[in-house]
Amino acid sequence: MGLPYRRWIRENLLREEPGPILSESILQRIWFESLFRNPLKTLSGELITLRQPGFWNHRAGPDFLHASFLAGDGSVITGDVEIHRHSSDWDAHRHSSNPAYRNVVLHVFWQADPAISDTPSIQIRPIALEHQLAAPLTELISLFHATPGEIAGGEKPGRCHQILLALSSDQLREVLEEAGWHRLRQRRVLATARISAHGFEQAVWVALAEGLGFSENREPFASLARAVPIADLLQLPTRLDRESLLYGVAGLLPDPTRTKCSPRALPLLKELWSRWWPHRETWSDRVLPHSCWRMGSTRPNNSPLRRMAALSFFSDPPTWQGWIDSVRRGESDNFLNTLKSASHSFWDQHAGWDGRILSSPSRLVGLDRATALLFQVLAPLTELPEDELDRRMKGWPPGGDAGLLRSASVRLLSVPFPPPDVRSHLAREGLLQIYKDFCRAKPCGDCSMPEFLNNR
Ligand code: SF4
Repeated sequence: MGLPYRRWIRENLLREEPGPILSESILQRIWFESLFRNPLKTLSGELITLRQPGFWNHRAGPDFLHASFLAGDGSVITGDVEIHRHSSDWDAHRHSSNPAYRNVVLHVFWQADPAISDTPSIQIRPIALEHQLAAPLTELISLFHATPGEIAGGEKPGRCHQILLALSSDQLREVLEEAGWHRLRQRRVLATARISAHGFEQAVWVALAEGLGFSENREPFASLARAVPIADLLQLPTRLDRESLLYGVAGLLPDPTRTKCSPRALPLLKELWSRWWPHRETWSDRVLPHSCWRMGSTRPNNSPLRRMAALSFFSDPPTWQGWIDSVRRGESDNFLNTLKSASHSFWDQHAGWDGRILSSPSRLVGLDRATALLFQVLAPLTELPEDELDRRMKGWPPGGDAGLLRSASVRLLSVPFPPPDVRSHLAREGLLQIYKDFCRAKPCGDCSMPEFLNNR
C-alpha cells in the first residue's frame, strides 16, 4: 500500500498532542480493561486478586466505584478506586479531606514518588502499575491516546473534502483502506493484550459484549462481561440459569414481588428471579449500578435488555464453541449466520419488562450490527495472518455504525455516504478512523491532513 498512514499518525498526531503522553485517562482505560497481571502486588508486597475493577465514574469523585478484590488473607474487600500518574497526586489533590473519597480502597498510580508517604490511609492499598502491565506501555498509549467522545451532531464538510473528492476512486479507496488497516492493527494490539491478560475466549467474550452495547452502553456491557466471565457461564446447566446471572449482575432484573410489570413479562421474570435469588449474595460485589445504563436514549430494538438476551444466547456451550471457532479461523459466513440466528421467545417481540411490544418481531442482532461485529470481533481476534485476512475482508459486506459513518462522510467527503465504488469494509472503517483521529480531535485550521494529501 502506498500511503504510510500509520507512520504519519505516529509522526504527526502523537507529536502534536499537547501535555503528558501518559495521562490519567490512559491509566484509567488500562484499569477499566484490566490489562495488567492479576494478582496485583501492592507497594507493601501483598498480592491481591481483582474480582471487579469497578464502574467507571465520569463525574466528580473517585475514578471507579464498587470495585472488589480478594485481599492477601482471602477476605473480599469492596470499595472505590482512585487513579493517578504519581502516588503524590493523592495529597496534591487533597483527597484525604474530601468525603467523596472516604470509600476508596485502592490507590492506583503509574509510579511511586520516592521519599513521599504512599499510604494516605491504612484502609487504602497503594499499587504501582509500572511493572505489572500485560502489554508494553508504548502500545497501550498508542491505543488509548484519543478517547472517543460524544458523537458531534450537525457535521459540516471540512477543509480536505475537495482534495479527497478530487482523487480517483482507486486513490481514494487506497487512502481510506490504509487508514482502515491502521484502525484494525490498533484493535489487534488491544486484542493481543486482552488475550495475554485474560485468555482467548474471555477476550472474544468482552469484544462481543462491547459490540452489542453499541456506543451508548459499550462500557457497562464490557463491565458486565468482565464481572461474569464466559468460563463461569459455560458451567451453568440451563439457558435460564445463564440469563438470570447476566440480568442479575447487570442490575437489570427487577424483583417481581416489588415491581409492577406486565403480565406478559411476569412468567419469565419470576423464573429468572427465582434462579437469581439464591446466588445474589455471592455475586453482590459485582452487581452493576442501575445508573450506569443508558436505557432511554436507545431505540426500542436496541434496548440493552434485548442485547443482553443476545449475549446470553452466545453463552450456550455448543453455540459458543462453534462461534469462537469461526472467530479463530476467520470464517465470516458462520460468524454472521450465528449472530443473525440469535433469538429469544420473549425478547424477539418485546423491548422491556413493562411488556412493550415491538411494532414487528425483530432479530436480536440486525444485519448492520452483525457486519460491524466482523470488524470489532472477528478481524482483531482471528488467528489468520494479515495477508489472508486482507484477502477475505474484500468479500465481507460493508455495514454498521451508520450514525457515525454519516458524520464522518459529511465531514470528509461532503456527502452522507461514501461513493459506491469506494465502499469496501476496510474503506468504511478507514473513514471512521480518520474522522476519529483528526476531525474529532482538532479544528480544520489546526489539522495537517490537507498538506499531507497534497504532498502524496
Ligand atoms: S479536521 Fe483535518 S481531516 Fe478532518 S476535515 Fe478538517 S482538515 Fe480534513
